[in-house]
Amino acid sequence: MSPADPAFGQEPEEHWGVLGEADKATPVKPERGNYAEFYRLLGEALREGTEPPVDPSDAVTVLDIIRHAHQVQRGYASHLVSRADLTAHHLAPGPRDQLAIHNPGEGWVSLPHLIDALATEFAELGGQLVTGAGRCPVEAERENGRVSGVRSENGRSWHGDAVVVACGSDTPAVVAELGVYIPDGSVPSMLVIAEPARAEARSVLNTPRVAMRPNPGETFAIDHSWYEDRIVEHEDGTWSIDEATVNELVGEASALLDDAEPLIPASWKLGRKPIPGDGQPVFGELATVPGCHVAFTHSGATLGLIAGELTTHEVLTGDRHPLLAEFRPERYSPTHRGEV
Ligand SMILES: Cc1cc2nc3c(=O)[nH]c(=O)nc-3n(C[C@H](O)[C@H](O)[C@H](O)COP(=O)(O)OP(=O)(O)OC[C@H]3O[C@@H](n4cnc5c(N)ncnc54)[C@H](O)[C@@H]3O)c2cc1C
Repeated sequence: MSPADPAFGQEPEEHWGVLGEADKATPVKPERGNYAEFYRLLGEALREGTEPPVDPSDAVTVLDIIRHAHQVQRGYASHLVSRADLTAHHLAPGPRDQLAIHNPGEGWVSLPHLIDALATEFAELGGQLVTGAGRCPVEAERENGRVSGVRSENGRSWHGDAVVVACGSDTPAVVAELGVYIPDGSVPSMLVIAEPARAEARSVLNTPRVAMRPNPGETFAIDHSWYEDRIVEHEDGTWSIDEATVNELVGEASALLDDAEPLIPASWKLGRKPIPGDGQPVFGELATVPGCHVAFTHSGATLGLIAGELTTHEVLTGDRHPLLAEFRPERYSPTHRGEV
């Protein structure tokens, strides 16, 4: 349609949105659009630095509203909060009157603390924990493919009826040696811990430029994904990132806090964040290697306890727990996908 057409910018009635509750929704005639004027003003803004016709941050707000609607639709506790609510949470409201999503049910688990507590309990119950054993391939019996244990790089073996492969982003490589395919979507990542701060914010914040959570010792754990391509993996297996990026990320976190001294990075750890290829957790016994179970997820903190419980149930009873039905490793096998 030509911009000179009298119908240009008009929406046909069948495309109008509806407003209201399910049985009381009424169609709303949209304002007439004017793309020609929009692009004229946009060109002017780009060339001459005048105000853009639409604030680009509106697009971010719209995405947040869609994300919020998705969460509510799935029954996830989600609230859109305003500038005033942010101030009540001791968070700086930012330069514009933007909305934010508050998920009151979200918390933060400090994995080192959780692991210490679980390891202590495990030892008290008579478990033996071996650390620093290096790469430990899984061993299976030749005749029937059943798992028989693991062997460390220095030749030490542990025999057992069951093995749980929970090797993080190396899980796909470990099971590949057993002829099992699990796609890998793991990405480079960095987690920064800030120096202790007097900031009073106690919420988990997921914002477009930073995710931050209160961490034990009055500190904050901070991360995001925008700097992924600045993380370098070296040939010797070590990782690095320029310190300016660490400071930039922590600066973004400081900007969210109301009236607080700027946060200072205390430490940062780099490595691959384990993510299965389809983004969904992988839990369960390998169909072709009886006795070998897998636990591979990017939500190890959130799911660790329940996943541990369900995996233990399956190892001890041999039953397949219905809660794991959608997450089984065989969903990737060619027969399951109907390719054979
Ligand atoms: C920046 C960042 C943010 C995160 N945010 C969240 C979050 O918001 N919510 C959440 O729930 N989780 C989060 N996580 C957790 C994370 O994504 C994982 O889910 C969690 O670390 C998985 O724990 P894991 O024990 O399975 O694997 P890992 O912690 O990766 O541990 C695997 C271990 O296996 C060892 N290993 C590897 N290969 C072998 C082998 N062949 N033989 C023997 N040992 C081997 C490795 O050395 C390692 O010690 C985050 C992680 C990062 C890095």
